[in-house]
Amino acid sequence: IIRFDKVVKQYGSNVVLNELDFRVEPGERVTLIGPSGSGKTTILRLLMTLEHINGGVIWVNGRPLSHMERGGRLVKANEGYLRRARQSIGMVFQQFNLFPNMSVRKNITEGPVHSLGVDKAEANHRAEELLDLVGLSDKIDAHPTQLSGGQQQRVAIARALAMRPQILLLDEVTSALDPELVAGVLDVLRNIAQTTDITMLCVTHEMSFARDVSHRVLMFDQGQVAEEGPPDQIFGDPQEDRTKQFLKAVL
Ligand code: ATP
Repeated sequence: IIRFDKVVKQYGSNVVLNELDFRVEPGERVTLIGPSGSGKTTILRLLMTLEHINGGVIWVNGRPLSHMERGGRLVKANEGYLRRARQSIGMVFQQFNLFPNMSVRKNITEGPVHSLGVDKAEANHRAEELLDLVGLSDKIDAHPTQLSGGQQQRVAIARALAMRPQILLLDEVTSALDPELVAGVLDVLRNIAQTTDITMLCVTHEMSFARDVSHRVLMFDQGQVAEEGPPDQIFGDPQEDRTKQFLKAVL
């Protein structure tokens, strides 16, 4: 469902992704780990088309995300194309990024109603279902400022799912939370992993969560995949020195 084909991303002379190749299959849950600065967040931002690449091609659902096909050639994508291309992708950020002046209900229904043209009653119904899923049915009329960080993050997850994405990107979604709020958010994500077939690509420092939910773990270093495998192998029997060192530092 996702394919990076020799993707290069650089900021000035800093080469963050160095001809990066990897793929994610439909329904697969993949966790990205690796040292700070290894390019994990950049990968998610590229998939959200928040950044442009300097080389290679990113494919989503068999179509180029970073480029448009014109007369058999790939040319740089324009804004309209990007907006459509990224509709299959939802993202939850470290900082919840809810709309502060809108109720929880409005936060969740705004995207479906305005970007997808979903009927208001249907969007409302879906918001109720999703709030039930994240355990916040009683907060539908609250404003983000009245919620704890953990609750805000659960609303952000509901808001992302309201767009019915095929792919959910999670960028260190618990790292801005007080420790006692982390478990509630991870439980919600475990539940989503178990009850849906949504493809998940997640950057996290929560190794036990990564172990529980992922089919595959990719260890990044210096803009490339240093090692990959099922979580039991990566966490239990890593082969590469870089992976061993990284895990020693974080576990
Ligand atoms: P972390 O775990 O610390 O979030 P990461 O693996 O997610 O790290 P990225 O955030 O993808 O790493 O950053 C990779 C590199 O790109 C870093 O060296 C960072 O300084 C650089 N970088 C990221 N965003 C920008 C930007 N907007 N302008 C310049 N450099 C950037």
